[in-house]
Amino acid sequence: MSKIIIKLGGSLITQKTRKDFPTNINEIKKRANEFIRYNVLKQLAKEISSLKDVELIVINGAGPFGHFLVNKKTDPRTIHSSVELLNQKIIDIFKQENKDLVAVHPCETCLFEENFQTDKLWNKTKQILQNNKIPITYGDVILTEKGYKVISGDDLATDLAKRWKADKIIMVTDVEGVYTKNPEIYSDARLILKLKEMRDIQFETNNIDITGGLQSKVKKLLGVDIPSQIINGSEPGNIKKAIKGESIGTIVG
Ligand code: ADP
Repeated sequence: MSKIIIKLGGSLITQKTRKDFPTNINEIKKRANEFIRYNVLKQLAKEISSLKDVELIVINGAGPFGHFLVNKKTDPRTIHSSVELLNQKIIDIFKQENKDLVAVHPCETCLFEENFQTDKLWNKTKQILQNNKIPITYGDVILTEKGYKVISGDDLATDLAKRWKADKIIMVTDVEGVYTKNPEIYSDARLILKLKEMRDIQFETNNIDITGGLQSKVKKLLGVDIPSQIINGSEPGNIKKAIKGESIGTIVG
Protein backbone atom coordinates (compact mmCIF):
# COMPACT_ATOMS: atom_id res chain seq x y z
CA MET A 1 0.00 0.00 0.00
CA SER A 2 1.45 3.35 -0.92
CA LYS A 3 1.35 6.20 1.55
CA ILE A 4 -0.07 9.34 -0.01
CA ILE A 5 -0.48 12.85 1.37
CA ILE A 6 -3.21 14.82 -0.39
CA LYS A 7 -3.41 18.55 0.24
CA LEU A 8 -6.63 20.17 -0.98
CA GLY A 9 -5.70 23.76 -1.78
CA GLY A 10 -7.75 26.69 -0.56
CA SER A 11 -7.73 28.13 -4.10
CA LEU A 12 -9.57 25.04 -5.28
CA ILE A 13 -12.06 24.30 -2.52
CA THR A 14 -13.08 27.84 -1.56
CA GLN A 15 -13.71 31.22 -3.12
CA LYS A 16 -10.25 32.29 -2.01
CA THR A 17 -10.18 35.76 -3.52
CA ARG A 18 -13.58 36.99 -2.31
CA LYS A 19 -13.30 40.28 -0.44
CA ASP A 20 -16.66 40.13 1.37
CA PHE A 21 -15.91 37.35 3.84
CA PRO A 22 -17.49 38.14 7.24
CA THR A 23 -15.28 38.68 10.30
CA ASN A 24 -17.82 37.74 12.97
CA ILE A 25 -18.11 34.04 13.77
CA ASN A 26 -21.93 34.00 13.79
CA GLU A 27 -21.94 35.62 10.34
CA ILE A 28 -19.26 33.17 9.17
CA LYS A 29 -21.42 30.24 10.32
CA LYS A 30 -24.44 31.73 8.57
CA ARG A 31 -22.69 32.47 5.27
CA ALA A 32 -19.95 29.81 5.14
CA ASN A 33 -21.59 27.87 2.31
CA GLU A 34 -21.30 30.89 -0.02
CA PHE A 35 -17.51 30.60 0.12
CA ILE A 36 -17.16 26.83 -0.28
CA ARG A 37 -16.95 25.27 -3.74
CA TYR A 38 -19.27 22.39 -2.96
CA ASN A 39 -19.35 20.82 -6.41
CA VAL A 40 -15.57 20.66 -6.55
CA LEU A 41 -15.38 19.23 -3.03
CA LYS A 42 -18.06 16.62 -3.78
CA GLN A 43 -16.13 15.50 -6.84
CA LEU A 44 -12.88 15.35 -4.85
CA ALA A 45 -14.55 13.42 -2.01
CA LYS A 46 -15.93 10.93 -4.54
CA GLU A 47 -12.57 10.47 -6.23
CA ILE A 48 -10.58 10.20 -2.99
CA SER A 49 -13.12 7.79 -1.44
CA SER A 50 -12.81 5.45 -4.41
CA LEU A 51 -9.00 5.17 -4.21
CA LYS A 52 -7.75 1.62 -3.69
CA ASP A 53 -4.52 0.23 -2.20
CA VAL A 54 -3.46 3.50 -0.63
CA GLU A 55 -3.11 4.86 2.87
CA LEU A 56 -4.04 8.54 3.02
CA ILE A 57 -3.51 11.65 5.06
CA VAL A 58 -5.69 14.54 3.87
CA ILE A 59 -4.95 18.19 4.57
CA ASN A 60 -7.12 21.13 3.62
CA GLY A 61 -6.16 24.75 3.01
CA ALA A 62 -8.19 27.60 4.48
CA GLY A 63 -8.96 30.07 1.70
CA PRO A 64 -10.79 33.11 3.09
CA PHE A 65 -11.73 31.14 6.25
CA GLY A 66 -8.14 31.76 7.36
CA HIS A 67 -6.22 34.12 5.09
CA PHE A 68 -8.88 36.82 4.89
CA LEU A 69 -9.33 36.90 8.67
CA VAL A 70 -5.59 37.05 9.35
CA ASN A 71 -5.34 39.97 6.93
CA LYS A 72 -8.16 41.71 8.80
CA LYS A 73 -6.35 41.13 12.14
CA THR A 74 -9.34 39.20 13.46
CA ASP A 75 -9.18 37.65 16.94
CA PRO A 76 -7.28 34.33 16.68
CA ARG A 77 -10.10 32.43 18.42
CA THR A 78 -12.43 33.52 15.63
CA ILE A 79 -9.86 32.47 13.02
CA HIS A 80 -9.57 29.06 14.65
CA SER A 81 -13.37 28.61 14.82
CA SER A 82 -13.59 29.62 11.18
CA VAL A 83 -10.97 27.17 9.85
CA GLU A 84 -12.38 24.43 12.08
CA LEU A 85 -15.83 25.09 10.60
CA LEU A 86 -14.48 24.70 7.06
CA ASN A 87 -12.72 21.47 8.05
CA GLN A 88 -15.93 20.09 9.58
CA LYS A 89 -17.87 20.92 6.42
CA ILE A 90 -15.30 19.01 4.38
CA ILE A 91 -15.61 16.02 6.74
CA ASP A 92 -19.41 16.17 6.26
CA ILE A 93 -19.00 16.07 2.47
CA PHE A 94 -16.78 12.98 2.71
CA LYS A 95 -19.35 11.40 5.03
CA GLN A 96 -21.89 11.65 2.21
CA GLU A 97 -19.51 9.39 0.25
CA ASN A 98 -19.45 6.97 3.24
CA LYS A 99 -15.87 7.94 4.08
CA ASP A 100 -15.10 8.81 7.68
CA LEU A 101 -12.32 11.32 7.98
CA VAL A 102 -11.07 12.03 11.50
CA ALA A 103 -9.96 15.57 12.31
CA VAL A 104 -6.63 16.36 13.94
CA HIS A 105 -6.79 19.96 15.16
CA PRO A 106 -3.43 21.79 14.98
CA CYS A 107 -4.63 24.39 17.50
CA GLU A 108 -4.96 21.63 20.13
CA THR A 109 -1.92 19.57 19.17
CA CYS A 110 0.83 21.99 18.07
CA LEU A 111 2.98 24.49 19.92
CA PHE A 112 5.22 27.25 18.69
CA GLU A 113 8.62 27.61 20.39
CA GLU A 114 11.05 29.17 17.90
CA ASN A 115 9.47 26.80 15.40
CA PHE A 116 6.39 24.60 15.23
CA GLN A 117 6.31 21.57 17.54
CA THR A 118 4.13 18.97 15.88
CA ASP A 119 4.89 15.78 17.88
CA LYS A 120 1.41 15.56 19.39
CA LEU A 121 -0.24 16.20 16.01
CA TRP A 122 1.85 13.41 14.49
CA ASN A 123 1.03 11.00 17.36
CA LYS A 124 -2.70 11.60 16.89
CA THR A 125 -2.36 11.20 13.14
CA LYS A 126 -0.49 7.90 13.62
CA GLN A 127 -3.18 6.58 15.97
CA ILE A 128 -5.90 7.31 13.41
CA LEU A 129 -3.91 5.57 10.67
CA GLN A 130 -3.37 2.55 12.94
CA ASN A 131 -7.16 2.34 13.33
CA ASN A 132 -7.45 2.20 9.53
CA LYS A 133 -9.11 5.60 9.33
CA ILE A 134 -8.14 8.65 7.29
CA PRO A 135 -6.79 11.59 9.28
CA ILE A 136 -7.53 15.11 8.07
CA THR A 137 -5.79 18.22 9.34
CA TYR A 138 -5.75 21.83 8.18
CA GLY A 139 -4.08 25.23 8.23
CA ASP A 140 -4.73 26.78 11.65
CA VAL A 141 -3.59 29.34 14.22
CA ILE A 142 -1.31 28.28 17.07
CA LEU A 143 -1.59 30.46 20.17
CA THR A 144 1.69 31.68 21.68
CA GLU A 145 2.55 33.89 24.67
CA LYS A 146 2.88 36.87 22.34
CA GLY A 147 -0.15 36.23 20.14
CA TYR A 148 -0.36 33.53 17.50
CA LYS A 149 1.41 31.92 14.58
CA VAL A 150 -0.17 30.54 11.45
CA ILE A 151 0.67 26.97 10.50
CA SER A 152 -0.25 26.43 6.86
CA GLY A 153 -1.64 23.30 5.23
CA ASP A 154 1.57 23.23 3.16
CA ASP A 155 3.71 23.21 6.36
CA LEU A 156 1.65 20.30 7.68
CA ALA A 157 1.82 18.41 4.38
CA THR A 158 5.62 18.45 4.27
CA ASP A 159 6.05 17.86 8.02
CA LEU A 160 3.72 14.85 8.03
CA ALA A 161 5.21 13.51 4.80
CA LYS A 162 8.68 13.44 6.38
CA ARG A 163 7.51 11.85 9.62
CA TRP A 164 5.36 9.24 7.84
CA LYS A 165 7.97 8.64 5.11
CA ALA A 166 5.20 9.12 2.59
CA ASP A 167 5.61 7.80 -0.94
CA LYS A 168 4.15 10.93 -2.48
CA ILE A 169 2.75 14.38 -1.76
CA ILE A 170 -0.03 15.53 -4.06
CA MET A 171 -0.90 19.21 -3.91
CA VAL A 172 -4.28 19.72 -5.51
CA THR A 173 -4.98 23.26 -6.66
CA ASP A 174 -6.94 25.35 -9.19
CA VAL A 175 -4.27 25.60 -11.92
CA GLU A 176 -2.63 22.81 -13.96
CA GLY A 177 0.63 23.16 -12.04
CA VAL A 178 3.48 25.64 -11.81
CA TYR A 179 3.84 27.87 -14.85
CA THR A 180 6.64 30.18 -15.93
CA LYS A 181 4.31 32.96 -14.73
CA ASN A 182 0.80 33.12 -13.32
CA PRO A 183 -1.47 31.66 -16.04
CA GLU A 184 -4.45 33.54 -14.61
CA ILE A 185 -2.74 36.81 -15.53
CA TYR A 186 -0.48 35.98 -18.52
CA SER A 187 -1.76 34.11 -21.56
CA ASP A 188 1.79 33.21 -22.69
CA ALA A 189 2.60 31.37 -19.42
CA ARG A 190 4.00 27.86 -19.99
CA LEU A 191 3.44 24.86 -17.73
CA ILE A 192 6.63 23.52 -16.13
CA LEU A 193 6.47 19.73 -16.25
CA LYS A 194 9.43 19.04 -13.96
CA LEU A 195 10.80 21.40 -11.36
CA LYS A 196 14.11 20.46 -9.74
CA GLU A 197 15.17 23.83 -8.38
CA MET A 198 13.80 27.30 -7.74
CA ARG A 199 14.40 28.97 -11.07
CA ASP A 200 13.23 31.91 -13.04
CA ILE A 201 9.52 31.74 -12.23
CA GLN A 202 7.20 34.69 -11.68
CA PHE A 203 4.84 34.10 -8.81
CA GLU A 204 2.74 37.22 -8.69
CA THR A 205 -0.69 36.40 -7.46
CA ASN A 206 -4.02 38.16 -7.15
CA ASN A 207 -5.10 36.34 -4.02
CA ILE A 208 -4.60 37.22 -0.39
CA ASP A 209 -2.48 34.29 0.72
CA ILE A 210 -0.65 35.10 3.95
CA THR A 211 1.44 31.94 4.01
CA GLY A 212 3.44 32.58 0.87
CA GLY A 213 1.24 31.01 -1.82
CA LEU A 214 2.64 28.90 -4.61
CA GLN A 215 6.23 30.14 -4.30
CA SER A 216 6.47 29.02 -0.70
CA LYS A 217 4.70 25.74 -1.55
CA VAL A 218 7.35 24.96 -4.19
CA LYS A 219 10.19 25.85 -1.75
CA LYS A 220 8.74 23.56 0.92
CA LEU A 221 8.33 20.69 -1.55
CA LEU A 222 11.90 21.11 -2.81
CA GLY A 223 13.02 20.93 0.83
CA VAL A 224 11.71 17.39 1.36
CA ASP A 225 13.12 14.33 -0.29
CA ILE A 226 9.73 12.93 -1.28
CA PRO A 227 8.24 12.86 -4.80
CA SER A 228 5.69 15.65 -5.07
CA GLN A 229 3.23 16.72 -7.69
CA ILE A 230 1.15 19.88 -8.05
CA ILE A 231 -1.98 19.13 -10.03
CA ASN A 232 -5.31 20.63 -11.03
CA GLY A 233 -8.09 19.20 -8.87
CA SER A 234 -10.94 20.63 -10.95
CA GLU A 235 -10.31 17.87 -13.47
CA PRO A 236 -11.90 14.59 -12.32
CA GLY A 237 -9.46 11.68 -12.39
CA ASN A 238 -6.30 13.74 -11.90
CA ILE A 239 -5.62 12.46 -8.36
CA LYS A 240 -5.79 8.85 -9.56
CA LYS A 241 -3.47 9.68 -12.44
CA ALA A 242 -0.93 11.29 -10.11
CA ILE A 243 -1.01 8.28 -7.77
CA LYS A 244 -0.47 5.95 -10.73
CA GLY A 245 2.63 7.97 -11.59
CA GLU A 246 1.32 9.67 -14.72
CA SER A 247 3.15 12.88 -15.48
CA ILE A 248 0.39 15.42 -15.14
CA GLY A 249 0.77 18.88 -13.66
CA THR A 250 4.20 19.74 -12.28
CA ILE A 251 6.46 17.12 -10.71
CA VAL A 252 8.58 18.79 -8.03
CA GLY A 253 11.94 17.43 -6.88
P1 ADP B 1 -3.69 26.70 -2.88
O1 ADP B 1 -4.42 27.81 -2.18
O2 ADP B 1 -4.60 25.88 -3.74
O3 ADP B 1 -2.82 25.90 -2.00
P2 ADP B 1 -1.82 28.61 -4.04
O4 ADP B 1 -2.66 29.86 -3.86
O5 ADP B 1 -0.67 28.39 -3.11
O6 ADP B 1 -2.76 27.33 -4.00
O7 ADP B 1 -1.29 28.47 -5.52
C1 ADP B 1 -2.17 28.47 -6.63
C2 ADP B 1 -2.31 29.88 -7.18
O8 ADP B 1 -1.02 30.40 -7.50
C3 ADP B 1 -3.07 29.95 -8.47
O9 ADP B 1 -4.44 30.15 -8.21
C4 ADP B 1 -2.44 31.16 -9.21
O10 ADP B 1 -3.28 32.30 -9.09
C5 ADP B 1 -1.18 31.47 -8.42
N1 ADP B 1 0.09 31.59 -9.20
C6 ADP B 1 1.00 32.58 -9.04
N2 ADP B 1 2.07 32.37 -9.81
C7 ADP B 1 1.85 31.22 -10.48
C8 ADP B 1 2.64 30.47 -11.42
N3 ADP B 1 3.86 30.86 -11.83
N4 ADP B 1 2.11 29.30 -11.88
C9 ADP B 1 0.88 28.86 -11.47
N5 ADP B 1 0.10 29.54 -10.58
C10 ADP B 1 0.58 30.71 -10.08
